[in-house]
Amino acid sequence: VGEVIKAQDMPMLVAVRVRPLWDKEVEAGDYNTVQVVEGKMVVVLDPWYDADHNPNRAKEKRYAFDVVFDEKVGQEEVYQRTARGLVGGVLDGYNSSVFAYGATGAGKTFTMLGSLEHPGVMVNTLHDLFEMMKDAKLQDAKFKVTLSYMEIYNELIKDLLQPMSVDLKLNEDPVRGMVVQGITEYGADSADEILELLHRGNMHRAVEPTAANQVSSRSHAVLQITVEQSERTAHVTGNVRIGKLSMVDLAGSERASKTDNTGQRLKEGANINRSLLALGNCITALADKNRKGHVPFRDSKMTRLLKDSLGGNCRTVRIAYVYECMLIDSLLIRTVRIAYVYECM
Ligand code: ADP
Ligand code: MG
Repeated sequence: VGEVIKAQDMPMLVAVRVRPLWDKEVEAGDYNTVQVVEGKMVVVLDPWYDADHNPNRAKEKRYAFDVVFDEKVGQEEVYQRTARGLVGGVLDGYNSSVFAYGATGAGKTFTMLGSLEHPGVMVNTLHDLFEMMKDAKLQDAKFKVTLSYMEIYNELIKDLLQPMSVDLKLNEDPVRGMVVQGITEYGADSADEILELLHRGNMHRAVEPTAANQVSSRSHAVLQITVEQSERTAHVTGNVRIGKLSMVDLAGSERASKTDNTGQRLKEGANINRSLLALGNCITALADKNRKGHVPFRDSKMTRLLKDSLGGNCRTVRIAYVYECMLIDSLLIRTVRIAYVYECM
């Protein structure tokens, strides 16, 4: 396992993961048009080979990122080199977020949720969070951990742990930040039963009726972990630190592509796209060093929900490669982007 990148040192990290070809793709004669160079660069080969069966090197494109995982890198290493760096901060009362971005089939849900045999970022994060709390508890800290798992579909917030719920409202609380009214706050003591809980929740994600193989590609799934810490000995109620970590399995990014935003498709997809586009706009505005620009948090449910986990009074958010990412996304179906923002309160 590679180095752990400290979130404090890197307010925004952009990682790219290339998934292996499916058997079906190999059988169909697909080949990999993506190469990973030194864990930092993606080379997109020209898909049209010349007469000698060599790729046209002049037409290849190169993109640099903070971290690039090739198809051989497993779940544990992806976690260690991305979200792992945020766990300590949550215990210290910081807010932060992790996003998986990419086209449908790129591996977002696999990366974030994973399977029972190959647990993803959400589960690994929770596991480490509980491990770290065990250590801190010995030093007389007292923790309360709550989980909420929701989906944003068509600009409506739905509780994935309470599937009958619809259209939950967002409120801004002076202490707790953005709060989803009436959402299930699952009190957790260990990471053990959580994987199953999340899988069950994921089954409730909006199903796209027209294409059975694109289940849930239109909805964003958001897992929020809130850690409240108080000193065991302190009787002062004000002495509580609250940290929040949001982990987001975004809707398929093909929904936000330019071709989807014209004519009839625009009407159809407007709500589905809004959160994804607004998130991109907020990230771009926050990445602006001068921070003079207005950050359009109010433009979508997703950005309102994450208002306290993206911007706040953090002055050092640096976000690179957003445009390159958007660009290569239309070329690379096999790429997933995990990016995180570290919030300095
Ligand atoms: P998305 O959520 O982006 O639409 P999924 O996570 O559902 O995509 O991945 C699509 C399929 O590819 C799933 O069957 C998943 O198990 C598989 N897959 C994705 N990434 C990997 C990977 N790194 N290794 C092995 N299988 C993967
Ligand atoms: Mg998915």
